[in-house]
This record gives sequence, C-alpha cells and structure tokens, in this order.
Amino acid sequence: MTKWVYSFGGSHNEGRAEMRNLLGGKGANLAEMAAIGLPVPPGFTITTEVCSAFYDNDRNYPADLKAQVDEALARVEAAMGLKFGDPSAPLLVSVRSGARVSMPGMMDTVLNLGLNEKTVEGLVKSSGDERFAWDSYRRFIQMYASVVMDVAHHRFEDILEDAKRALGVFDDTEITADAWRGIVKSYLNVVQKETGRPFPHEPQDQLWGAIGAVFGSWMNPRANTYRKLHDIPASWGTAVNVQSMVFGNMGNDCATGVCFTRDPSTGENIFYGEYLVNAQGEDVVAGIRTPQPMSALKATPEQSPMETVLPEAYQELCRVRELLEKHYRDMQDIEFTVQSNRLYMLQTRSGKRTAAAALKIAIDMAAEGLITKEEAIQRVPPASLDQLLHPTLDPKAERRQIARGLPASPGAATGIIAFSAEDVEDLAAKGEDVILVRIETSPEDVHGMHAARGVLTTRGGMTSHAAVVARGMGRVCVAGAGSIHVDYKAQTLTAGRETLKAGDWVTLDGGTGAVYSGKVPTIPPTLSGDFSTLMGWADSVRRLKVRTNAETPEDAETARRFGAEGIGLCRTEHMFFGPDRIGHVRQMIMSTEQDERARAIDALLPFQRDDFTQLFRIMAGLPVTVRLLDPPLHEFLPHGEHELEEVAKAMGKNVETLRARRSALSEANPMLGHRGCRLGISYPEIYNMQARAIIEAAIAVSKETGNAIVPEIMIPLVGVKTELERTRAAAEATVQAVFKEKGVTLEYLIGTMIELPRAAITAGQIAEVADFFSFGTNDLTQTTLGLSRDDAGSFLPHYVDTGLLPKDPFVSIDKEGVGGLVRLGAEGGRKTKPGLKLGVCGEHGGDPDSISFFESVGLDYVSCSPFRVPVARLAAAQAVLKQRQKQPV
Ligand code: PEP
Ligand code: MG
Repeated sequence: MTKWVYSFGGSHNEGRAEMRNLLGGKGANLAEMAAIGLPVPPGFTITTEVCSAFYDNDRNYPADLKAQVDEALARVEAAMGLKFGDPSAPLLVSVRSGARVSMPGMMDTVLNLGLNEKTVEGLVKSSGDERFAWDSYRRFIQMYASVVMDVAHHRFEDILEDAKRALGVFDDTEITADAWRGIVKSYLNVVQKETGRPFPHEPQDQLWGAIGAVFGSWMNPRANTYRKLHDIPASWGTAVNVQSMVFGNMGNDCATGVCFTRDPSTGENIFYGEYLVNAQGEDVVAGIRTPQPMSALKATPEQSPMETVLPEAYQELCRVRELLEKHYRDMQDIEFTVQSNRLYMLQTRSGKRTAAAALKIAIDMAAEGLITKEEAIQRVPPASLDQLLHPTLDPKAERRQIARGLPASPGAATGIIAFSAEDVEDLAAKGEDVILVRIETSPEDVHGMHAARGVLTTRGGMTSHAAVVARGMGRVCVAGAGSIHVDYKAQTLTAGRETLKAGDWVTLDGGTGAVYSGKVPTIPPTLSGDFSTLMGWADSVRRLKVRTNAETPEDAETARRFGAEGIGLCRTEHMFFGPDRIGHVRQMIMSTEQDERARAIDALLPFQRDDFTQLFRIMAGLPVTVRLLDPPLHEFLPHGEHELEEVAKAMGKNVETLRARRSALSEANPMLGHRGCRLGISYPEIYNMQARAIIEAAIAVSKETGNAIVPEIMIPLVGVKTELERTRAAAEATVQAVFKEKGVTLEYLIGTMIELPRAAITAGQIAEVADFFSFGTNDLTQTTLGLSRDDAGSFLPHYVDTGLLPKDPFVSIDKEGVGGLVRLGAEGGRKTKPGLKLGVCGEHGGDPDSISFFESVGLDYVSCSPFRVPVARLAAAQAVLKQRQKQPV
C-alpha cells in the first residue's frame, strides 16, 4: 500500500527536511521543526505523489487516500482534544499548498476551515469570544470562496465597506458580533449568487474542496508560466498541508508575524521582521495595519516592538531563531503565531536575500563555524556580484519606465542624451553625465562609449558590438530596445507616446534592461572586506584560470585589480580607432598598391608597439594573448563624404577613385566575409606589422622589467589547417627577423581561435600547427546556430520567452550544440597535442553556467570582461565543488 499521507507535530511525526521532494518544502520543514522539538500545531501532509497520481488518473484521487486522510485527521483531533465539525468545540484547520520550491501563482492558504453556522457557535463557547468567532467565520468564507470557488475578492470587500459605512465605523475591530453575523449572511448570499451553488457547510466537503483547489492550482496558467520561467518540471507536483489552527487574533496576548533570522538586505546578524498584535496571518500581508518591529534595538519611540509588548513569546522566539539557524545552517525566513502568550511555528525556509546579504551571511556563518568555507563559496550566486560591483538605482527613487531592452551590461546610469560619439565626448569634457543613444554601435563609437555613463541601442543582441564593448569597459548598457525609435536627424528618441530630445535626461538599468525617462538617482557600489575574503576562498578551490578580455591600459588595470591572471583576448582592432590612427588605417585599406599600403602600415607600427608595451607592463609577466586583426574591413571604411575627402587628401588621390574602391570593398555579408585570417592571407603586411609590434614590445618590456614576457599571438577565424599554416609561417618569419635585428630571442606562442564549426571538427589537424586554442564562442554560436550576432534580437527573445530555447545562446552556452563542438575541439586538439593549452574568450567566459560547463570539458582558462573577473573566479570555484559532489566518494 502506498503511503499518501504523513502526519506531523503530534505524537506521530513522520516526515523530515530531506523528504522535501515528497512532502514539499513547507510540509518537510514543518515535520523537521516538530522533530527538533519546536512547537508546531499538529497536522498532516498529502504528498506530491498524490498530485502526480491525480493528473495521471484523469483528476481522480488514489482509492485509499480518503481512508489515510481520515486516519491522519483523527490523530490531529486526538492531539488537540477537539473534533472536526463538532458543534460544541470544533477543530479548525488551515489548508496550504507546498511544492518542492515555493511557487507564486498556486493556491496559497485557506484558514479557519471547518466553520459553519453550527460550529461557529462552538467556537463562541470554546473561545469565550463571540466577536472573534464570527469574525473568523467571515474570514473563512471570504478566503475559501475566493481561492476555492473563484468569487472575486472585491465582492466581499464591497460588502464589508458598505457595512462599515452603515455602522459609522472605520476599523474592523469596531465591528460587533451582531454586525459580523449580518455580514456573514451577505457573504453567503453573494457566493450563492455568483456561483449558483451554496457555500459548502459540511466541514468534510470544505476540506476536500480546498484539497482539490490546491491540486487544481498546480496546472493553472499562472503556475504553468512560473514553472516555465524557472525550469520547474510539471511532474514534481505539489503537496497539501492540513494543519490545526492556532489563533493570533484572540486578544492582546496574541500575535502573528513573519521574520528573518538575519537582515535579508544587509546580512546583519539581527532578528529582523514584523509582527502584529491580535491579528491573523493575512493581516500582516494585507498592509491595512502597520506591522511593528521585532527587536527593541531597531524600534523608534513611536513603535511597539514585540520584545517589549510580548516579552515571553519574544524570548522564546529568540531561542527558536538560534536553534533554527544552528539546525539548518542557513538564514531562515519564518512565520509564527502567538496564541495566549504561547508561541507556535507555522513555517521555516531558507530566506531570500540581496547579494550584499548573501555575501555577509556566508562569511559570517563560516566565521561562526556554522558552515565550511566550501559551503560559504556555494552560498553566493556568482551573477549577484554584479550588484556589488556597479552602481544601482536608488530603490526609493520614483521612476517611469518607457521601454525595455536586453540587460547587456550591468549597473545603473543616468545622464543626458547624446546621439553621436562626438557629442558625448564634447559634453563629457564639460563635466556632464551623458548617455550615448544609437541604433547600433560600431568600433567608430568606442571613444564616445568610453566617455559616456551608459549606452542605449535599439538593435543588436547580447554579443552585439555595443554589448561586448560596454561590458568590457564596465559601462552600463541596454541593447536592442526595439520599441524605441531613434531619429538622428531630428535628434530624438521616441518610445510609445514619449519623445525625448538630445539633452533630455534618461536613466538605464543595465541589470534589468529597463529604460526610464528623466533622472533617477543611483547609489554607488561599496565593497566590504568580505568580498576579498570570499574571492580568496574561491581562488583556493578553483582549477580554471581566469583571464580578461582587454585592450586598453585602463581595462587591463581594472581587470588586474579584480584578480585577472592574464589577458585572454586583446582585440587589436579596438586600437585602430584612436583619432591619431584611424587615418592611417583607412589609407591602409583604401590603398591598391603594395608600397602605398606599406607606408600606411609603417605609420601604424609605433602605435601598436606602444599599445602592447603598456599591456605587457601592466600584466607583469602574466600571459597576454594578442589577436591579430579580425573584423570585416567595411567597419573601417570612411563612411561619410567628409571622411572620404580626408582620406583622399592624405593619399593624394581623387575622391572618385576612392569612392569606387570603397564600393569594391563593401560586402553583402561582412561577418561571413573578408575578415579574420582571410585578411592576413590577402594582406600579409598587416599581420606582419602586428607580429613585429608584439615581439618588439615583448623584448623591450622583458628587458625593462626583468619579467620573462611570453607573448601569445592569436590568429582568428581559422577554418582550415592550411590557413593557420600559412599565416603562422609568415608570423614566424617576422618574429625571427626581429630576433635577428635585436640580437635576442624569447619564448612565444602562436595559436588560433576555434570559432567555426569546421575548425572544431578538424581540431586534431589544426592542433598540428597551433600552440594553443582559444574558443571564440561568440562566433561559434553565430555560425553553429546560423544566428546573426547583430540582428537576432528581433526574434530571439521570443524564442526564449516561449521556451523554444532555454536561454539566449549568446549569453549562456548552448551545451548540446555549441558546447558539443567545444568538447569535440578540445578532445581533437589534445589528441594531437596532449598538453595543448585551451581557453575560451567568447562572452560565455564570464557566464556562471557556461563556466561550469567549461570546467567539465577541462579547459585551462576562461577569459572575460574585467568586471566579470570576480564573477568568473567564484563560478569557477563553484564548478569544482559541484563536480566533486557529483563524483562518488
Ligand atoms: C568570439 O567570437 O567569441 C570572440 C571572442 O571574438 P569576437 O567577439 O571579437 O568576434
Ligand atoms: Mg570572433
């Protein structure tokens, strides 16, 4: 016989915390509290298996359920010395849902179940309080009818308000027993009218009605949506908890409250929460009366803290608080009721908390010896560190949202609108806070993005230029806000009915993707010593190294401060846009003659050498991977007429010739066009110049600092071994030439990015000519899924919203598809060269879920934008611990 029902709290306590899957979170924890001797009103849990059986069997209960419920109910009656439905002294119960994880959208609670016209008189007798009894009855009708019978809540509120008006009273507490009788009658009439059925009078009918409503709510649309959003399988089911009632509303020695064993927003070790005297649970939530604080320490003179109002129950609760924390070894969120000065526990669960609180609680609990360092590491969600490293919106500030885009780079920023990089720079130079608003950004805008507080684009996804570059710089970015229309000519942006002009204030929340009109104040981040403690613990556990994607000295320095162990990707093209360089770059591209191109390239050499020198200095001997030129040439073309004229003048050519050259160079599909190593093959001079600049800089910094610099030269977008073979040979020839000129040599590596499916599949061959691989998972995602990095924003969110894809694959690696290719590439490469160094430098290198996957593949390092370095350090440590837990001891 299957056991469908588990008793708790009385003489029979059959559950435990670890039976959460069967009993749901609430039921398992009620049993656990009872097991450790806490005062839990007796009751029973109908298991989640009943829910599954109910749906598997066309919404019918298992045949023996009724008998098991009867038996459990009889035990509760015995424990309470009361009988369900007894007109002289009735047992009343609450009925609540309780899935494995707490789930909004499900039927929540029905209190005071078991009341009818006869038993209410019994309650009058047993409580000695007629007012209380009739108030309890009307509360029950109201709750039951609205959650079980679907009668709109306001129907009851209206009756109550009318009655109060007629009686000339303002507060429910002023309503007399007689008046409640009248209100109950009206409530019963409303139910009959609205549903065409009488309100159930039989306590047994009430009970089964409420149980049915809990199971029914498991499949209601709100619960279904919530489950989809949070990856909760429908097969888990919910449990139902039936528990004897205790009353917090039976007088001034009664109360009810909700609290946390520590402050959930700061993590401070104080008893935090609210309670109400003479109230039932829903009064605290309803917000009609103002709840009061728990501890006298935190109370203002006008407040009545529980510590002074109900001192005995408060002391008992303090004992419970300590016991629960010791027992569960985590901060708890608890619900309690005090009836006639006696404390009863109604719920405990691990408490939700802010990032700051999670950090402080983890470190404090480890220091208190409650948890181990490894557990502390696992208690802080890595992505939540974003909240600690960036400014956030002042939660108290008013705000008006006008649009929503992708949360491309975290933090909050407010500033005046400018529509071009140049305008941003001018305004920022005058000390203004500026937000750059563009349809999309290109490398030309990088200087404006740098000068801006934040960047807003209306097109593009999570690995679009704006997203990647802003994240790298630590600038706030909302990308792909498609409902905003930008008009560069009119210098306006329009979102719905709202139009904002250049110079108007706008505010971005890069953590949520929200765009607000006007100025919303922000709060700067503060980092406590706990942060570096946690990072230190994470470092002692993790195996993956964490490098950064950086090309400016500023970003490299930021990354070092955050603990980066080298540079995994220096995108050299970002160095080409400085005002002193772009002219030479354009001449290089537009020239048709080799000697003309050579002149332009020669002019670039000192700039590049300088750039690399600075990076090598900052990284002080840590590995630095420099990627040779990668982006499609069209990104550098002189777009405007004025720019075209400038280049023509510098080259001594006429504008017409250059216009023709420009159109010859433009491509229909540049991301699949003349880019990556294909550039190095067409224009070997460019790669040779870059290789020379890298080696000259490395020799200089090695000499200057005494650090042995081992530069890593990386060739992008290789699909065929021969491409790497040819570009590598050219780079090596340059390197050898420099060695000869300088009369010194140094160790260096030449490797490639694996960012095309063909490269992953033929990695074994490519490894023959590569010293290392770095997986470029941005392009690999784009090419594997055939999804444009820049345009997918117009439909990809819909894919995720409707469950076609579990997550945006540009944010979190598609483990089976793209991840499968990474695994294949790693295995292929290491088969050829067992010690081959493997890294990843796509945006996934900073995503906790993806990092856990890369740990399982056995990569050597991840590389991510500077502000994500701490996130990656923590995620890498958690990945090791997770892996350990999976392995049998
Ligand atoms: C990649 O493709 O993953 C990568 C890191 O290169 P980029 O984003 O510059 O194309
Ligand atoms: Mg790439």
